[in-house]
Amino acid sequence: MPSLPRPPGDIIGVIGAGTMGHGIAHVAARSGFTVILNDIRGDLVDKGLVIIGQEMQRAVDKGRMSAEERTAALARIQRSDSLDALRDADLVVEAIVEKEPAKAELFAGLDRVCKPAAILATNTSSISITRIAATTKRPDRVIGMHFMNPVPVMTLVEVIRGHRTSDETVAAIMAWSRAMGKTSVEVNDYPGFVSNRVLMPMINEAVTALMEGVATAEAIDTVMKLGMNHPMGPLALADLIGLDTCLNILEVLHEGLGDPRYRPCPLLRKMVDAGDLGKKTGRGFFEYPR
Ligand code: NAD
Repeated sequence: MPSLPRPPGDIIGVIGAGTMGHGIAHVAARSGFTVILNDIRGDLVDKGLVIIGQEMQRAVDKGRMSAEERTAALARIQRSDSLDALRDADLVVEAIVEKEPAKAELFAGLDRVCKPAAILATNTSSISITRIAATTKRPDRVIGMHFMNPVPVMTLVEVIRGHRTSDETVAAIMAWSRAMGKTSVEVNDYPGFVSNRVLMPMINEAVTALMEGVATAEAIDTVMKLGMNHPMGPLALADLIGLDTCLNILEVLHEGLGDPRYRPCPLLRKMVDAGDLGKKTGRGFFEYPR
């Protein structure tokens, strides 16, 4: 059987050190890659590095990696406060806020700083890869690389081909995903791709059921767990994803597909306005004591 192609480089930049960014940095470093972790907020890079260290310690405690492997993996992660540090990266995975203007500005900057051969990937949940690619002079080397949350646990990478993404770029991302122990599935560039086009309407409907008093949050999640065999209920999942991220994705679906069935539930909007964003702020549909 012919051997599968190796990824075309060993230096991976990760932009955004939040829920997803630190998870991607964790998995990349553990898979032997050199990682440059960047965030506009230096304190969040520090927080991300602490979480990665704790997650790897849990893996050591469970016998899934040795203490030496943990030390070596952590040493492969460099923190960076400036995009210039990404000059030598072979792959950059962007995991910043789900807002198109922020991503567009970042990709234009990455295109200026990164070497011409570098592939620029976005972990966006829903925004058009084709439009992000159009902010660069290398649309053939821009692609969606959509990891699932929590990244060290979930094995899927949804690979999204933009209108001008090349076959070589798709093959390279498949190789990097494989090297990180993930299974990739290729999809085309439409709002929400497959994952969030199917998932978000369910979460939105669960929030609407809660708003209308159909049942409590606990009851809604229990129905879906025990009745539909989902590993977690839609409201707990929304808390894990982040209610701000859910709202942003629903807005992209609503605007991009123009169908009222994607209209974000007013309760979701209200909770985001209140700053109850789920697990990351300690409170969403459920409470998360810190
Ligand atoms: P998050 O809010 O936890 O983290 C975002 C991070 O990006 C923050 O640390 C913020 O300081 C940083 N940031 C914002 N603008 C920046 C910039 N210009 N340069 C550098 N850093 C910047 O968000 P998240 O949940 O990790 O989501 C990140 C991306 O991943 C989004 O596109 C989201 O849709 C996608 N995603 C999220 C999930 C999920 O379950 N949360 C799953 C899959 C994909």
